[in-house]
Amino acid sequence: MFAEIIAVGSELLTPHRQDTNSLYLTSVLNDLGVAVAFKTIVGDHREHLTSAIQIALNRADILLLSGGLGPTEDDLTRECVAQALRLPLYRNPELLETLRQRFAARNLQMTQNNHHQADQIQGATILPNRNGSAPGQWLDVLYNGHRRLIALLPGPPLELQPLFAAECKPRLAAALPPSHLARRQLRMTLIPESLVDARCAPIYKTFPDVETTILAGNAEIQLHFSCVKPTQAEAEAQVEAAADAVSREMGDDVFSSGGESLEEVVLLMLGVRHHTLAVAESCTGGLIGKRLTSIPNSSRVFLGGAVAYSNRSKTALADVPAYLIDEHGAVSDAVARALAEGIRRRIGSSLALSITGIAGPATPRGPDSQKPVGLVYIALTDGKETQVKELNIRGDRERIRIWAAQHALETLRRRLL
Ligand code: AMP
Ligand code: MG
Repeated sequence: MFAEIIAVGSELLTPHRQDTNSLYLTSVLNDLGVAVAFKTIVGDHREHLTSAIQIALNRADILLLSGGLGPTEDDLTRECVAQALRLPLYRNPELLETLRQRFAARNLQMTQNNHHQADQIQGATILPNRNGSAPGQWLDVLYNGHRRLIALLPGPPLELQPLFAAECKPRLAAALPPSHLARRQLRMTLIPESLVDARCAPIYKTFPDVETTILAGNAEIQLHFSCVKPTQAEAEAQVEAAADAVSREMGDDVFSSGGESLEEVVLLMLGVRHHTLAVAESCTGGLIGKRLTSIPNSSRVFLGGAVAYSNRSKTALADVPAYLIDEHGAVSDAVARALAEGIRRRIGSSLALSITGIAGPATPRGPDSQKPVGLVYIALTDGKETQVKELNIRGDRERIRIWAAQHALETLRRRLL
């Protein structure tokens, strides 16, 4: 069984609005074991919409439409679905009355154009919308001899989501053969996507029942495994086997197999090893602190630190000697080392991390003026030994900051292995 989603709305074809309904609908369909084969975005245009619906009805078993159910001239979904199916559209007096009452209860004037929202496709079931005036519609029809399940859904996500969950999910589940979905996820960082795929593809390809996708972004690589089977146990066994096989190949490169973020894993490892952590961040301006403190209860291991952005604050907050900065520049091995050691002493943690770098776009004046944008030093200290890494990160300011923070957390994770 395949599904197609049609997002209706001219605004979705501009740079100002994005179709997000299809993401929600896809996740519910996937939970039901249904894959989405096509997504279409079409403007509020009669011929375009009717032809998009006809194309979808020819190639997908399930068709979900979002938007275009409002009261205005450009809300055409009801009409176009009726036209594509060659079914009449009629005004349902009961629905009209419900709409009237809805407006009256809110002390609002119901204008003539609102009457369109009481138009029902012959044979459709009305899906009540508790959060808006436009009801949805559900059709279970034959189209050129093929069974088609069709839902017309309101555009606003706050209306579509509860309506779809309450009215469509159970109807779909009842119409589909029993199927259960299992998922696993492996997360890695700072490895090129092509390298991960080169090592993993020969392994996951030996699991033909498992769908494997690779996602890369923000310095992270995720491998997603999913499998649909008649029973949950069969589906779980398949994804487990595939994830385990790939995990064995990638070894310590995999930082999480249960969906945890890198900061969660690091906090967990610090806790288990009875460590506490402080950080001094220059070019990342608190990114590491933000990530660690986004995890509840992290104060048990993450004690705090400083955003030591200016030269003066590196001295004032982490006792970095001013002469070190004058001699080597703020972005240097020596300053990264002194920052980590200084913040560890000040905060009294067992471990400390520091980051200093040039995020760009301009290079600073003074002793760092000859250094390239993207040069970053990370230091990790336990008070006895300090490890310093020099990195050259490509990209714009945002990317350099994200990757620098990621490198620091990954350096810490590797140290704790
Ligand atoms: P409509 O039902 O077409 O009148 O849509 C009403 C509103 O819902 C639009 O103005 C959008 O803000 C929102 N909307 C419509 N379609 C989508 C979509 N695919 N994803 C997210 N929001 C949407
Ligand atoms: Mg619209």
